[in-house]
Parts: sequence; C-alpha cells; structure tokens
Amino acid sequence: MHDHDADVIIIGAGIAGLACAEVLAAAGLSVIILEARDRVGGRILTHYDKKQHFPIELGAEFVHGEHPELIERIKRAGLRLRRINEEPWCLEEDGLQKCSEFWSQTEKVLEALRVTKKDHTFAEFLRSRVGKRFSADARDSATRYVEGFNAARAELISVNSIVRGLRMEEKINGDKQFRIVGGYAALVADVLKRLPAAQVRIETGTVVKQIRWKRGRVEAAVMRGRRRQTYAAQKAVVTLPLGVWQAGAVKFSPKLREKEAALKKLYMGEVIRVALRFRTRFWEKMRPQAGGATLRRMGFLFTKDKDFPTWWTQRPALEPLLIAWSPAWHTKRLRGKSNAAVVSSALASLARILGIPSSKLRKLLVEDYVHDWQADPFSRGAYSYVCAGGERGARALAAPVNHTLFFAGEATVSDGTSGTVHGALSSGTGAARELLKTIKT
Ligand SMILES: Cc1cc2nc3c(=O)[nH]c(=O)nc-3n(C[C@H](O)[C@H](O)[C@H](O)COP(=O)(O)OP(=O)(O)OC[C@H]3O[C@@H](n4cnc5c(N)ncnc54)[C@H](O)[C@@H]3O)c2cc1C
Repeated sequence: MHDHDADVIIIGAGIAGLACAEVLAAAGLSVIILEARDRVGGRILTHYDKKQHFPIELGAEFVHGEHPELIERIKRAGLRLRRINEEPWCLEEDGLQKCSEFWSQTEKVLEALRVTKKDHTFAEFLRSRVGKRFSADARDSATRYVEGFNAARAELISVNSIVRGLRMEEKINGDKQFRIVGGYAALVADVLKRLPAAQVRIETGTVVKQIRWKRGRVEAAVMRGRRRQTYAAQKAVVTLPLGVWQAGAVKFSPKLREKEAALKKLYMGEVIRVALRFRTRFWEKMRPQAGGATLRRMGFLFTKDKDFPTWWTQRPALEPLLIAWSPAWHTKRLRGKSNAAVVSSALASLARILGIPSSKLRKLLVEDYVHDWQADPFSRGAYSYVCAGGERGARALAAPVNHTLFFAGEATVSDGTSGTVHGALSSGTGAARELLKTIKT
C-alpha cells in the first residue's frame, strides 16, 4: 500500500522538474513532484531585499544569450529582460583600467580550440604545440575565463565540451547577456502558477532516499521530517543535481550500471558567490588612473586575485551591490568556512583590488548574502562540466531506462548548454516529450 499514487513522479522541483511537469500535465497526466527543500526553484534562488525591493540572486543570475525556449517563457510570463552591455575593467600590473587585451586575447585562444577524436583537457591544450604559440598573458586570460564561466578546473575540463559550448553560444547569440527584471525567481513563480493544481501536486520537504523500479512501476521511498513514506507511479523523471547523484544520496534498486559509469565522466563545478550590499555605489566615483575614466560604467571586473578573481556590479541597474565570484580551485581556501569568514575574505579581496582598507569597506557594508552550494546537501556543487574524454557522459545520463525512468537536469544535456538555466529547462521539457512517446493512447 502506498501513501500516494500518480502517473508520473518527478524528483526535484528545480526549473527542469517544473518545466517537465508543465508538459506532462498539459498532456493530461497526473504528476507528483518530490522536492527535498522547503522551497521550489533549486539553484534559482532570489533573495528580495525588503527595504530596497530589489532582487539579489544567490544562484543563477544571467540569461546567457537568446535560447528560444527560455526567452519564450520569459515573454509568456510578461517579464522584462535588461540587457547588460557595460564596461569590463581589468586589474593589470599597472593598476585598474578598462580591459584592453583580456577579451581579444581570450577569444584568440578559444578560437584555436578544435574538437578532436582524442579529447584533451584545457590545460593540456595550453601545453600543446598550438597552445604554446600564445603568450603567457593570453593563456592566463583564457584560463581565467574558462575557469570563471564554467566553474571548472583547467586541468580537468574537456576541450571538446568547451568547443561545443562555444558553438551553441554562437547559435543563441551568447555574447548578449541579460538579467530578468524582478529576478529569476519571478520566472519560477510563473511556471509554478501555470501548473494545474488538479493534476500536479508538489511535496516539499520530501527527501527521496531510494527509487525501486521495474518496467512500468516506480516506488520512491522518502523521508518527510522523521516520517518514512512511499510514493508510487508508472514512471519517474529524475532531475537530481549531478553532485547529489554522484554522492549516492539516492539509491536505485535495481542499480543503474550505465548511469554509474556516466557519472564518472562529469564533474560538479565549485563556486563561492558573495553578494555585498553597500550604503552607496562608492566605487563609481573612483578614478584609478589620473586623468582616466571613473568606474561609473563598470560591469565586470577581472583580476588575478587568489580568492575572488571576478567581480561585477548590477549595471545598468543602479543598485549598490557588488558580486564576488570565486570559481573552481579559487574556492580552496574558502571551503568549509563560516559565511562570516567568507565575507571577510571577499572584503579583503575587494580591498586589495580597489586599494581601499577593509575596515572602510566594512563600514560601508549594509548586508551580505552567501549560499554555500557545495555544502548544500541538495546541490553539492554549483553546476556540471565534462571531463576530457567524457563527452558521452551527459547523453548516457539522459538516456531513458526501460520506458520507465527518465532523466533531466542541467547535467544531462549534451548540446553545449549544460550548467545553465536554459539547458536545464530544455532538458525538462525534452524528458517529458520522451516520456509521452512511451504512453499508449
Ligand atoms: C552560484 C550559481 C550561479 C549560477 N549562475 C547561472 C547564470 O548566471 N545563468 C545560468 O543560466 N545558470 C546559472 N547557474 C546554473 C543554473 O542555476 C542551473 O543550471 C539550473 O538552475 C539547474 O536546474 P535543475 O532543475 O537542473 O537543477 P536544480 O535547480 O538543482 O533542481 C534540482 C532539485 O532537486 C532537489 N533535490 C536534490 N536532492 C533531492 C532528493 N534527494 N530528493 C528530492 N529532491 C531533491 C533540489 O532541492 C532541487 O530543487 C548558476 C548556478 C549556481 C549555483
């Protein structure tokens, strides 16, 4: 006897799970979404500043390019996109200045990458005959870009996967970046609103521990607080984050051997992201070079800082907020520390970069926001990337099993959009369509 039954169980109420539910419900199926946290949205997590009323993203922030499925949903929700086209600044040996070489050097290195039969890591490429043709500066800029954007370690990430990502970016105008006015959570709220209550039930605070399955039957054993329960359905869609899956936090019975092999080909990228809300946009008045421009129009700030190499403002929105981004190996010295210690490190990093004493920055600080995605048991990392030679991993992870188990989530996409909201979204609707093909009418 089961506590609850439905046609389909979806595990995870991130954007992949919610988008999947929408398609299944539209086809007339009943769906139960089992979500471990007490909220939906997963790695989309927007904090709304109560006094100032502006959104502060703790997870996904940017809309990268114009992926049709994501753009269509943003429009459908009546949300507005704000294009980001601000000045990139760089901290060079001779001080802060508008980036002159950073992008052109990075682009040249990335253009030299090729898909090859024997895949390599990005670090191997830089040490290769072709890679060595670039100056040390160019290799360094490209490494910082690859690590920052993909949250990946250069000595692990697959060159083939980077090339596919770049090709996809070209297709969707990936050079254009936007923010959703009102925050990413507004998009999640809209998808949620469209799920028909009669068909879709969302069980939050429900941690899936085990999935027992046979063809045409799935049972999910869960913990709701201290209570054990089971949910049963004919089919399930699993949208677990890669890190959760790799940790073995959810057991499959019988085991999914081919998935276990695929999991070894992908890595969960690490990111520590700090949002610092100050009293004012004090940096805007700074003029780093005598007679030069002020930082008023600064968007991104690229540095070689060990802890937080990348920073950005909210421009063109005029919020007194700076985001500190620590990707991949940079997180090493920060991992496991308290939020207060991480914020202190971010302030120390900003002090080094801007040449302002930490104590002064602290006086200007109103609030700080950190979410440790690595320590969070329901994400266990930020977003996925592919290891050298592991390109088939995502496809193997996505492959349905026995017309019964289906898989979605950002790590399951193999078209170059993994690690993004649009990738997760399209994986969710794609898995729903795969599932519907297996339903007899
Ligand atoms: C710091 C950060 C910055 C990012 N920036 C961007 C950006 O600017 N632009 C962009 O496009 N993307 C960005 N991303 C990536 C983007 O957020 C993700 O790719 C996307 O949100 C993933 O959606 P998903 O549905 O695949 O997974 P998730 O959103 O992780 O959803 C999976 C769900 O499964 C649940 N779950 C986990 N374990 C269990 C369990 N045992 N039982 C039940 N439920 C469980 C989780 O709680 C979660 O709700 C960022 C991510 C991070 C962390």
